[in-house]
Amino acid sequence: MKNNEIEQLDHQYLLQNYARFGITLIQGEGCEVTDIDGKRYLDLTSGIGTNIFGWGDKLWSEVVSKQASTLQHVSNLFYSLPATQLAEKLVNLSHLSCAFFCNSGAEANEGTIKAARKYSFDKYGEGRHTILTLENSFHGRTLSTLAATGQDKFHQYFHPFTQGFEYLPINDTVALAQYAKRNDICAIMIEIVQGEGGICTLHADYLSALQQLCKDQDILLIIDEVQTGIGRTGKIFSYQYFNLSPDIVTLAKGLGGGLPIGAVLFGEKCRSVLGKGDHGSTFGGNPVCCAAANIVIDRLTPDFLAEVSRKAAVLKTALTQLPLVKEVTGLGLMLGIEFEEGIKAIDVVERCMQQGLLTLTAKEKLRLLPPLIISDEQIHHAIQILKQVLQTFKHE
Ligand SMILES: *Cc1c(COP(=O)(O)O)cnc(C)c1O
Repeated sequence: MKNNEIEQLDHQYLLQNYARFGITLIQGEGCEVTDIDGKRYLDLTSGIGTNIFGWGDKLWSEVVSKQASTLQHVSNLFYSLPATQLAEKLVNLSHLSCAFFCNSGAEANEGTIKAARKYSFDKYGEGRHTILTLENSFHGRTLSTLAATGQDKFHQYFHPFTQGFEYLPINDTVALAQYAKRNDICAIMIEIVQGEGGICTLHADYLSALQQLCKDQDILLIIDEVQTGIGRTGKIFSYQYFNLSPDIVTLAKGLGGGLPIGAVLFGEKCRSVLGKGDHGSTFGGNPVCCAAANIVIDRLTPDFLAEVSRKAAVLKTALTQLPLVKEVTGLGLMLGIEFEEGIKAIDVVERCMQQGLLTLTAKEKLRLLPPLIISDEQIHHAIQILKQVLQTFKHE
């Protein structure tokens, strides 16, 4: 089949809710992927942060195939080895208390919102249900996670949204202090590095002020690690860069190495908040997805993570030196590039694609989420392409 035939089928039969690039990817290997016309691309997107070991990883696909041919799904009415093993690993790595598995980031955050509200209800009764999130945040596409998302453009058309969310300006300790007087707040939910919001990293002093407020007032600190987690920033969880002890952590994107799985990790306080019948998900803890996540986690050794950090520093330094680059933000291999006035990130993405390089945007920035296995040579290659592309803007 040809690209234009697939495009036609897409337009005819799929909901047109995505602004797709006009190419069909058909096969990948490591950090490279080929489209239907045989054109090869170097990938700095990882399927939006999911394929952290790149495409077609041998070990990963062996484990997944084996699990799929042994036991593809069990209902949550039974114990399951891959899910229990994965929960044990995540609990040990996070020092939290127990895990709940679901299928996506939004679903993980949705479960978290329920848990936070019930925690407060059980302990303090009705009315203490407000959840603070940050301006510019992104927490998902369900009605409640859209309500949690601190961007007005997401709060249209679908009214009524879930009530009880308020948005704090980011890195503003003065604004935060005003909330210390309130007695209706049950939780604060943050991303350490805002992903969709434009790769903005929270400041250490702001994070410690948040932590202090949460401790003082028994407010739950929820960290949405859906994009930042699982080695993306050079640590298993990005909050480990700061001296934080979250009560709840959510995961998804990179966790399954490309299969759909989300997780909520609950700390001691929330361990028993959701009891039998309070929450669930048919596919949650699916053995194939959990087997995939187990092999992903097993490979995030301290040595591997040190390599991620080293390569991230190489990439960041090289990006900073490119023409027309104003600022490079982010942590580890989650990077945002702000260009000089007049250069649109989406145009950079398009021109890079023509030159065989896949990149993303986040708001007005170019966003890079390369597979964590990217080599120094591939980083160098990517920089060469970006440099050429940016020179085309320079000469306009
Ligand atoms: C992508 C993302 C989500 C939503 O995850 P889905 O799997 O698309 O539901 C939530 N929070 C953050 C920080 C994300 O980056």
